[in-house]
Amino acid sequence: TEYKPSQKRYESMIYNRTGKSGVLLPAISLGLWHNFGFVDNLQNGRDIIRCAFDLGITHFDLANNYGPPYGSAEKNFGIILKEDFKNYRDELFIATKAGYDMWPGPYGNFGSRKYLMASIDQSLKRMRLDYVDVFYHHRPDTKTPLEETMVALADIVRQGKALYVGISNYKLEETQQAASLLKELNVPFILHQARYSMFDCWVEDGLLDTLEKNGVGCIAFSPLAQGMLTDKYLNGIPNDSRAAKSLSYLNTDTVYSNIEKIRKLNVMAKERNQKLSQMAIAWILRQPAVASVLLGASSANQLKENVKALNNLEFSNEELKLIDAIVS
Ligand code: NDP
Repeated sequence: TEYKPSQKRYESMIYNRTGKSGVLLPAISLGLWHNFGFVDNLQNGRDIIRCAFDLGITHFDLANNYGPPYGSAEKNFGIILKEDFKNYRDELFIATKAGYDMWPGPYGNFGSRKYLMASIDQSLKRMRLDYVDVFYHHRPDTKTPLEETMVALADIVRQGKALYVGISNYKLEETQQAASLLKELNVPFILHQARYSMFDCWVEDGLLDTLEKNGVGCIAFSPLAQGMLTDKYLNGIPNDSRAAKSLSYLNTDTVYSNIEKIRKLNVMAKERNQKLSQMAIAWILRQPAVASVLLGASSANQLKENVKALNNLEFSNEELKLIDAIVS
């Protein structure tokens, strides 16, 4: 059936400025790491993307190797774009990345100019796009000179293949160095994509401050700790959950070792009249340096539920202290 986006799609989403750039990102964005590969159901993926756009989610995050198999999330996204969104390209902010293992041999991984230049061309082809809005180096590569990687990002922008650049998983020091180089190169560096949730607060030890100082926004990935910060694991491991899946990076031991914390946080969320997932999202958005929370979803309903986090973003000091005490 033909997709007609909701007329009300911009009525309730919050849009945050990304660093000191001209770009506004939805407070909640959608990532296609899981649930969009050839191993997954394309109709379900399509329903999730349509639902996201109807909720005002304009930002979609991909990477060359999302799937499985590698490349298949970009291919599926390309199909969905072509069939449902061909008149809406200018309402979408699309990201992809290169930096992890992608193709065999010495040129399909890490941070060389050779890899990045080939990878962006492949990604554009798979998604059937002329350009992406942001292209990231996916992880730092200590063996390649940082300057080589940053110049490659700059040239990708100059070739018109990306409008902005970003980095991901770079630690504090590496981030500062990258920011200085990109400034010299005069390319718009707008985003640092970092893991951030109540279960992993490393960005609070200086990274967020450094990003603010450099006018760069943070986008937080795995904000629900891959689903642990929801109510889904309270009574065991559901068969269709990420923790139960063999191809995932979340294992059952990790869930079990966190279950006491999850239970306590769930009680707190109830007292706030929120779902745990909603509290976990709101807790990240309390940081002014965070432009967007980058969620994953295996169904449209999860997304609908999670977006309601925006209805209660306030925390008292007591609540913040209690969360620290529970997770530390
Ligand atoms: P989340 O922490 O948001 O986990 C998402 C998963 O949690 C869903 O797929 C679903 O899993 C479960 N879930 C979500 N909402 C609910 C709910 N309301 N109730 C119950 N379960 C729920 O994020 P991800 O780990 O998926 O990461 C998000 C995005 O971040 C990725 O798609 C990717 O774009 C990016 N990312 C970037 C990385 C990088 O290195 N730069 C690394 C990792 C992610 P299920 O139902 O299957 O159990």
